[in-house]
Amino acid sequence: MNLNEKGLLIVLSGPSGTGKGTVVNEILARSDQYSLSVSDTTRPPRPNEIDGIDYNFVSPDKFKELIENGELLEYTQYDGNYYGTPLKNIVNHLDDGINVILEIEVEGALNVKRLFPEAVLIFLIPPDCDTLESRLRMRGTNSEESIEMRLERAKEELNFYDRYDYVVINDDGLVDEAALAVISIAESEKHKTSFNKHIPEEFFTD
Ligand code: 5GP
Repeated sequence: MNLNEKGLLIVLSGPSGTGKGTVVNEILARSDQYSLSVSDTTRPPRPNEIDGIDYNFVSPDKFKELIENGELLEYTQYDGNYYGTPLKNIVNHLDDGINVILEIEVEGALNVKRLFPEAVLIFLIPPDCDTLESRLRMRGTNSEESIEMRLERAKEELNFYDRYDYVVINDDGLVDEAALAVISIAESEKHKTSFNKHIPEEFFTD
């Protein structure tokens, strides 16, 4: 139990191919106290992706409209496409005590931290670069050009590692360990005094 009954905003970043999606699915399967924010993107869906579940797939014109209407908490361009976090639902979920996970890249993560300093930033990394490359290739849905770009961007993103509050390794076959690490970080954060500032008056002596 916490004095502050609000949910925690959790930002999970990590190079493309780290397995963020798998870790998030494991967290959602373990607890109903977490919700994943579904981003808007202009990227075309991959064969296994479902509109409204993996992303809200929108046209570039629609994305522009979302920006102009102030409907995005943050947005960025990545591999030639736009990605953005819809504001709608996040505040409602947090007010209902649900922890909200944003699975976004580094630039977006740092913007969220500026807007919500109480957000916890977790950096998910693969055990090594070879594993990252083979996971990207195994996906089978990215072109060679896109794989090269994603590997390049991974190196750039890793430079921002120390701007995050926590780091979690997603090792092969150990996705449950990574998910449990994220859950225990979230639980600790929710017990921080800074997250529970309002002590009931009855606790104070006259
Ligand atoms: P992918 O094309 O592999 O699904 O995503 C490419 C990158 O965009 C990933 O690093 C993913 O975390 C990031 N991303 C997805 N949604 C958002 C978003 O709403 N905002 C930002 N800043 N990055 C996002």
